[in-house]
Order: sequence, then C-alpha cells, then structure tokens
Amino acid sequence: MYTLGIDIGSTSSKAVIMRDGKTIVRKVLVTVGTGTSGPAQLIEKLFEDQEIQLSDIQKTIVTGYGRTSFKEADKQISELSCHARGVHFLFPSARTVIDIGGQDAKALKLNSRGMLLNFSMNDKCAAGTGRFLDVMARVLETNIEDMGSLSEQAQAAATISSVCTVFAESEVISHLSKGTGTANIIAGIHRSVAQRVSMLAVKLGIENDVVMTGGVAQNSGVVKAMEEAIKTRIKVSDYPQYTGAIGAAIYAFDEAEKEMTKRCSL
Ligand code: ADP
Repeated sequence: MYTLGIDIGSTSSKAVIMRDGKTIVRKVLVTVGTGTSGPAQLIEKLFEDQEIQLSDIQKTIVTGYGRTSFKEADKQISELSCHARGVHFLFPSARTVIDIGGQDAKALKLNSRGMLLNFSMNDKCAAGTGRFLDVMARVLETNIEDMGSLSEQAQAAATISSVCTVFAESEVISHLSKGTGTANIIAGIHRSVAQRVSMLAVKLGIENDVVMTGGVAQNSGVVKAMEEAIKTRIKVSDYPQYTGAIGAAIYAFDEAEKEMTKRCSL
C-alpha cells in the first residue's frame, strides 16, 4: 500500500511516498514553500516518471506551516506530531530533537514510543533559523550548501554578538571590512545559531539520543557548533529535511489501515 506525506514549509515543500508505512520509495523537494506554486510543482515532480500514479496513493496527509493551503490531502496533522513520528521512524532511540527550518527552530522531547512529551519553539525571530543563515550566505556571496565545509577551514570563530539578524548582518559586514577570513566569520555565524537554538533544548532538558532535523541539519558546521553548545553527540539522518513528510506518510498509512480494518469488520 502506498501513502503520501507532504510537508509545506516556509521555504521549501517536501513529499515522501512510503510503502506500507515502512519503506521510503520516493522523496522530492522543491525550494519554494507556502503561498507559492510549490505544492503544485511538488505533485508534478512526484509523479513525473509515472512509475507510481496519483491513483496508486491510498491516503495523503499534509503537514507544515502551509498545510492549510493544500486542499487535496485527506487530512492535516501538525508539524510537531509529524516530526516526532518521522524522527522515531528514523531513530527509535531519539529522545531530544532539535529542528531548524526556514523560519523557526524547535526542540522536542520524545518518549521511548516516539510520543511527543514536550516542546519549545522560536518562531518570533529570524535569529537561530535557516533564514538567518540564508541572509548571511548572501552577504558572504556563498551558497548555503557550502557553509558547512567552508566553516571547517576556520582557525578561530569570529564573534557575532548581536541576536537580531539585521544587527548581526552589520557585524558580518564589519568583519569583512576588517579583513576577517570568510571561514572564521561562517564559524562565528554557526556558533551564534547554535547558542540561540541550544537554549530551547536545554530548557526542556537534554536526554540522549539527540537528533537534528530540518534543512539546517544538512549544515555540518551548525551540527558541530550545536554539539559543542550542548556537549552531546548529535545524530543526523541522510535526509533530515524530509522528517515531517516521512511522519505524515506514516500517519497516512495508519489511517488507511484503520479504514481497511473497519471495512473488513462490517
Ligand atoms: P521549512 O520547512 O520551514 O521550509 P526546511 O526544514 O526546509 O524549512 O529548511 C530550510 C532551510 O534549510 C533553509 O532556510 C536553508 O537555510 C537550509 N538549507 C536548505 N538546504 C540546505 C543545504 N543543502 N545545506 C545547508 N542548509 C540548507
């Protein structure tokens, strides 16, 4: 049985098709999020090779910041629930989750069954989010994908003390004009994100295993800075940006199975 999980985020839209709620058979991403043609592009890309058709999908669940805009789904489920479910599928040993997306950051506490016990969130300010890193990448004329490897060349992380994105941007420009190396500035930016987001996890109490999810988890520099900030090793899957969509596809499988059982018992 095929089920579909869709995560419409602030900056990107993700979709995952799963077989029997156990195997990921396809995952696609478009780098546009809510309020755009992202969801339509996503569906087109998902079924372009026609191996699996839309009619093969038993159930679709949508999650993410822009979930209400996707009317074609059978059901909407919150980001927090889908994230918890996706993380538990990828790392059953996860108890603390740090998720950094395009416009928010959150920490989640899970129990051994993957149930969400508590969470803490920053969605008020761009500092400590993907947006902060996207702004800094632009100022430094670098690609967001290269920030992690560039920061590995740092000798000493530059100090970025402003919490506000606008002031931090001025600090970065000031570092550039003083001749501070790009690698050191990027390491300072990563440290600033880690210091801010780690507070969310510390507030909840850090329990092993710790897992990082969301698009920013692909940045090895932020992961390393976060490990230093919380003094704990962090696990990252090969596709952290798809965690919410994976959770949604698993919830969709549960729903489809429940319906089938009900039909059989009639
Ligand atoms: P949302 O669900 O809010 O759209 P995502 O979890 O998709 O957010 O994360 C988006 C953020 O991830 C971007 O703002 C960007 O900073 C970061 N990002 C995306 N791709 C990469 C990459 N390849 N390497 C590092 N960071 C990335």
